[in-house]
Amino acid sequence: MTKHILITGGAGFLGSHLCERLLNEGHEIVCLDNFYTGTMENISHLSTNSHFELIRHDIVDPVYMDVEEIYNLACPASPVHYQFNPIKTIKTNVMGAINVLGIAKRTKAKVLQASTSEIYGDPEVHPQKESYWGRVNPIGIRSCYDEGKRAAECLMMDYRRQNNVNTKIVRIFNTYGPRMAVNDGRVVSNFIIQALRGKDITVYGDGSHTRSFCYVDDLIDGLVRMMNSPDDFYGPVNLGNPGEFTILELAKLIIRLTNSPAKIIHQSLPADDPTQRKPDISLAEKKLGWIPKIELEKGLTDTIKYFRNTLKIS
Ligand code: NAD
Ligand code: UDP
Repeated sequence: MTKHILITGGAGFLGSHLCERLLNEGHEIVCLDNFYTGTMENISHLSTNSHFELIRHDIVDPVYMDVEEIYNLACPASPVHYQFNPIKTIKTNVMGAINVLGIAKRTKAKVLQASTSEIYGDPEVHPQKESYWGRVNPIGIRSCYDEGKRAAECLMMDYRRQNNVNTKIVRIFNTYGPRMAVNDGRVVSNFIIQALRGKDITVYGDGSHTRSFCYVDDLIDGLVRMMNSPDDFYGPVNLGNPGEFTILELAKLIIRLTNSPAKIIHQSLPADDPTQRKPDISLAEKKLGWIPKIELEKGLTDTIKYFRNTLKIS
């Protein structure tokens, strides 16, 4: 059955893949974006589809429309971009959530909030389960994003309890793949671009801190499964690949896969950079039947191919 679906942040990395997936399923898609980090290139191949509508709008301002489902993805995700204008970041998270929840309250739409593993801050519990409340610095340079996302989770739950809005929360762990912006600044795209250009690979700190990397196709499948899950399962649920790697291991793997002469250099670790991160995905497995399928080496190989084309490096 065709559904009318709003995707905020639809011109971004994850949003553009989600637009594509839901259009392929035959739905009517409204892509709303202010193009802060998203681009027309990410969605230009969708623009000729008569089921695709683009609205240039800032989700900090109210917007009115009739839809059945909302995926709320609008928010810069890279630390470089969300720290560039931190006040705007927290406004996007808080006002954006209030504005999509306003649409949902009026139209009875279901809302899926793209939350984050940053909710857990620099965690003392490893791997991270949804029941862990986290260890977030409320006044640091990452707080605009971390606390903004925590406030958005709170709003999802309060609109559910107070106004019976059908909300769902997913906590996304580091996701990578084609259409990450060249200037994104996140580790996977940074290392691939540096390796392809033969430039120094910038490992922050000694490289012993860890992350778990999920390929975009797996993540998008998890988002759609969560939206389609029974109403009495509303999360929060972790979505991520539990394979855990040190940043140094990632750098060496990317150098090998690109066959690059690039050298690893060490730079200072940014403040409040979480030392370890790995999702416990048993809840997603049990409730959504979801488990990521794409191994890091395969996902990186496809992402490297994408950046070779984008940067025109043979
Ligand atoms: P992205 O920066 O590529 O996409 C974000 C999109 O939101 C962009 O198109 C941007 O222009 C748009 N946007 C930003 N502020 C807006 C505003 N005020 N109004 C309208 N549009 C706005 O990032 P992404 O990786 O695609 O992340 C998408 C969502 O998933 C974000 O909410 C992010 O916090 C969440 N998330 C992503 C990851 C990841 O690893 N990719 C991890 C955790 C959470
Ligand atoms: N990182 C790095 N070099 C880079 C970019 C990032 O060593 O050029 C590190 C960063 O310090 C962090 C990890 O890689 O420990 C993941 O960073 P990213 O910005 O991708 O996302 P985060 O998980 O920190 O939000």
